[in-house]
Amino acid sequence: MAEVLVLAELNPAGGGVRKTTLEALTAARALGEPSAVVIAAPGTAAGIKDALAEYGAATVYVAEAPEVDEFLVAPKAEVLAQLVQEKSPTAVVIPSSPEGKEIAARLAIKIGSGFLTDVTEIAADGTATQVAFAGSVIVHSKVTAGTPIYTLRGNSVTPEPAAGAGAEQAVSVSVSDAAKGAKVTDRVVEQKSSRPELTEASIVVSGGRGVASAENFSIIEGLADSLGAAVGASRAAVDSGFYPHTFQVGQTGKTVSPNLYVAVGISGAIQHRAGMQTSKTIVAINKDPEAPIFELADFGVIGDLNTVVPAATEQINAR
Ligand code: FAD
Repeated sequence: MAEVLVLAELNPAGGGVRKTTLEALTAARALGEPSAVVIAAPGTAAGIKDALAEYGAATVYVAEAPEVDEFLVAPKAEVLAQLVQEKSPTAVVIPSSPEGKEIAARLAIKIGSGFLTDVTEIAADGTATQVAFAGSVIVHSKVTAGTPIYTLRGNSVTPEPAAGAGAEQAVSVSVSDAAKGAKVTDRVVEQKSSRPELTEASIVVSGGRGVASAENFSIIEGLADSLGAAVGASRAAVDSGFYPHTFQVGQTGKTVSPNLYVAVGISGAIQHRAGMQTSKTIVAINKDPEAPIFELADFGVIGDLNTVVPAATEQINAR
């Protein structure tokens, strides 16, 4: 059976494999038999091998060396290029994080292949689906040169377990001087939150300019916590200092595709839609019945968020 290489994306500080990796292993099965590639600091693979096998990894290629951890993307692209040359896979699938996209681009240049970023689906014949122009166009594309490389948008595929052999195979790592051009000097550990990670959450509650202040974002957090959701924000909200920039959803923020997206006090500008319109169910709470977000929403509540959101939170918490 054709082999498909899947780059494993890991949580920082030994936090295990990310859901995006399980999604990539699931999507890769449309093309052949997935093999996971772990390129990380020594001792990483042992803790995640079983999880990779449970989602169909027939082989787990282990490329562990301090350099690959210290230099982020460039060595990972080198190791993947080496594996593509040795194993001649049918395709390479990489989670579509900023790091994943850079690795994919570098890999594509190294092996002379075409690559497709932010795909939401991969068909058995290699055709990929992408959402373009802030979601107004659905594009189907195929790589026509070399080994196809795809980066898979988070939350577009539901991870499905499938037993794989998970046979471990060591890969020798030799990082070129060229790949050591930029070194990680420090890692700032993100503030620990009990909420799920924004791009991986199955429910997201986002607040916009209508929330009106940083203090008032506590009502967004209250609804999010009652639903076990992540908190997001529009650009207007983060630019106004209501919520940190890292939570911005949209064209210049994060792309989310949860089962449920609740947009509170958000008008629904095209740049915001670009980051959330592939959500499975969208609920909008807005006091303006003409707000464009209602064109997109599956359910809408016309009302003042200061009344509607606390009432909804109370009802949910009472269950
Ligand atoms: P507004 O458009 O001001 O809407 C606020 C909404 O709140 C209104 O609909 C109003 O009716 C409602 N409201 C007010 N008070 C209440 C209340 N008490 N109860 C209920 N509803 C209330 N935006 C993003 O979000 N993400 C991006 O990544 C992004 N990237 C951009 C990139 C570029 C290049 C550009 C030019 C713009 C970008 N924007 C982005 C900005 C975007 O165009 C909008 O300006 C922004 O999304 C508006 O945010 P908002 O909906 O929170 O604010």
